[in-house]
Amino acid sequence: MSDFNSFSFDAPILRILKEIGYEKPTPVQALAIPKVMNGLDLVACAQTGTGKTGAFLLPALHTLCKSPRQKTPQILILVPTRELAMQIAKEAEKYSKYFNQIKTVCIYGGVPYPPQKRALAKPYDILIATPGRLMDHMDRGLINLSKIKTLVLDEADRMLDMGFLEPVEFISNACPKNRQTLLFSATIDKKILQVSQKIQKNPEEIRLEPDDISKSNIDQKLYFTDNLAHKMRLLDHFLENKQGQTIVFTSTKRQADEIADNLQEQGKLAEALHGDMNQRQRSRAVEKLRRNQINILVATDVAARGIDIPSLGFVINVDLPFKPEDYIHRIGRTGRAGAKGDAVTFASRQDRSMVERIERLIGKPIAVHTVAGMEPQKQEAKGGSHRRGNSRFGNRSRPGFKKSFSKFRGR
Ligand code: AMP
Repeated sequence: MSDFNSFSFDAPILRILKEIGYEKPTPVQALAIPKVMNGLDLVACAQTGTGKTGAFLLPALHTLCKSPRQKTPQILILVPTRELAMQIAKEAEKYSKYFNQIKTVCIYGGVPYPPQKRALAKPYDILIATPGRLMDHMDRGLINLSKIKTLVLDEADRMLDMGFLEPVEFISNACPKNRQTLLFSATIDKKILQVSQKIQKNPEEIRLEPDDISKSNIDQKLYFTDNLAHKMRLLDHFLENKQGQTIVFTSTKRQADEIADNLQEQGKLAEALHGDMNQRQRSRAVEKLRRNQINILVATDVAARGIDIPSLGFVINVDLPFKPEDYIHRIGRTGRAGAKGDAVTFASRQDRSMVERIERLIGKPIAVHTVAGMEPQKQEAKGGSHRRGNSRFGNRSRPGFKKSFSKFRGR
């Protein structure tokens, strides 16, 4: 499938795709769109950054415009986080630009109810929601799902991890039986297949092979570290030597705050992003990165889901994630839609088994690198699964090194 014309999309879709400048479908779009246009249920294994939103939104919009308009929604998209909800709402508005008044409503937790209630009281076509807040509105009788034609579960693995299994089943049951159900997930495991069995009818399956991930345009490197102070020296080194928009991932909210504070004290344009911040603060931090008002976001996993900043070129994992799949979600923040990205990961020797789990998931080893002058004291055992590469940053010392992460040193 080499271009969008072969999908027989309606003219308003082709027009907007041309305007945005998408030249051809991404692999997941090429595989998914014909099946979705044929009305089939779908289980698709696709990470963020692959163009999966277009894979479900474009054909769903096409279908929506073929049927008479209703006062209640015909497309329901369930997502795990508010950031992803807002991101998809933006895409929906973008793609429906040349359709006559397609209205999107986006609802999520952590913000006041009244504006959402007002939005839900008017006619609308597409509903994008996190399960918890959607259930709240359903309890109040504010949502009618009886006209849903397409139900999408996006980042389904994350939704289940966050304990949304029951809400997802409840919401699915509130939709008509003859709806189309599309399930997108970064990983497909037993839990996902069980949910699929309950809410889908003979779904077609699309899996981008691990090989597709390993061939990815994201350059991945692993740096072994002795302790937290060592990690902070490396972080400092990479932030000094690499320009452009960067997300630094940490495993705790406290560390995200501490690192962001330290970077600010060094005069860097950095902010934290984590679940203890209210929605306004979180949106503002992401928007600042998008607008280049800052260039470093120090984030925890949940808060960073759904962030789509095409210019983001660099991801630094100060800590490994708790789950291997989150590694894919993290590095998928860069290298969006075929762009080039870099991802560096710091790991202590105790992290070896998690590194191996991640490597099994991505289907290849992550090359081990060192930065000259900052090598780990405990060298990697010879004959391990890791190949050693050369640091792109070589032996450059940092002349401007003055104030750094002294607070972390020696911890
Ligand atoms: P997603 O995986 O849906 O979050 O999309 C990742 C990025 O790819 C977003 O910035 C999209 O706007 C972009 N994108 C989606 N489809 C295409 C395409 N066919 N060509 C180029 N960029 C795309």
